[in-house]
Amino acid sequence: MTASLLLKNVRPYAGPATDILIENGKIARIGKDIAAPAGVAVEDGRAEIVIPGLVEAHTHLDKSLWGQPWYTNEVGPKLLDKIDNERQSKKRLDIDPARQSARQSIQSSLMGSTHIRSHVDVDTEHGLWGVEGVMATRDAYRDIVDIELVAFPQSGLLRRPGTLELMEAAMKAGCEVVGGLDPCAIDRDPKGHLDAVFGLCQTYGKPLDIHLHEPGEMGLFSFDLIVERTRALGMAGKVTVSHAFCLGADPAQVDPLMEELVALDIAIMTTAPASRPAPPVTKLLAAGVRVCSGSDGIRDTWGPYGNADMLERAMFVGLRNNFRRDDELRLALDVCTTEGAKVMEIADYGLSEGKAADLVILPGETVAEAIVTRSPKRRVLKRGRVVARDGVSVRAAP
Ligand SMILES: [Zn+2]
Repeated sequence: MTASLLLKNVRPYAGPATDILIENGKIARIGKDIAAPAGVAVEDGRAEIVIPGLVEAHTHLDKSLWGQPWYTNEVGPKLLDKIDNERQSKKRLDIDPARQSARQSIQSSLMGSTHIRSHVDVDTEHGLWGVEGVMATRDAYRDIVDIELVAFPQSGLLRRPGTLELMEAAMKAGCEVVGGLDPCAIDRDPKGHLDAVFGLCQTYGKPLDIHLHEPGEMGLFSFDLIVERTRALGMAGKVTVSHAFCLGADPAQVDPLMEELVALDIAIMTTAPASRPAPPVTKLLAAGVRVCSGSDGIRDTWGPYGNADMLERAMFVGLRNNFRRDDELRLALDVCTTEGAKVMEIADYGLSEGKAADLVILPGETVAEAIVTRSPKRRVLKRGRVVARDGVSVRAAP
């Protein structure tokens, strides 16, 4: 699954042209005029930009409708409408998690993502169907992308008895992260919900990535309970709060919480939503908070949008945060690359010697131009092997 390759004439982050020698899937040397060792293939970089692989740090591989007939969305306005509709529709719409996660993973890879964190539904209606399906994809497509699973109680944890036991089973089956969801708004039992998910983290020695859509003061209240438990359980650096719309509230309310985020190294995932208050990316990064991004659901029963392009997501981060300067757009790219890698704790990630050769080569004069033009002419390398070229993957979709 690893390869050796000499990349000639590429520009790391649109800087000066150089060569990159890849040996056994790792970046062995970066420098000018490297000669190809015997038997090592050469890839002409054509003076294009090279960046580390894009990091899709929040999606739902198990339930995309990618490649399925168009889904006419007539779902009600509330969060519970979407949750209940989806759970009731999965079998009828033939949303097979193994097949659908494979389709989305291939799409994601050919757009340049080399790592994916996927939340995967765990509920009493489908048990571990999703977890087993995404694990099958993780194993079968390891050559093109690394996938991490978050056991996710999408339908609630306490309001549907039996879910906690299934969450236990999902962790035993090998999920890497514990998930959670709106402790007040969905389970209506913030203490019970958070004690349960933090309990799973303690039992299995795993980090937490909790969806928190709750707005304003309700969200800040739940956030405070998350902070309290993170501190009490010694889980600094092991908690991610996804969405965190409440951080988009009045700074007078949010600032005290920001200090806690920094102190406990709690990471934030934002999709940079157009239709919700959103966490202030610049302010968080400047304070030293890890901020990552993701597509969230792609073409599912929740909504029709998405193409798994994290370069487009970087543009959304820019638009949502009023980024105009080139250095600001570089920050948006960092959110979709290095920051995501920090949140996922990917040890061998980055564009430097000794790191895994997970790279994207793409046209553009500058990083900012690459983000705004989003050329489909990308070359994607996973462990030194070109796994996608100009929108075509080495793997066929099921
Ligand atoms: Zn999500």
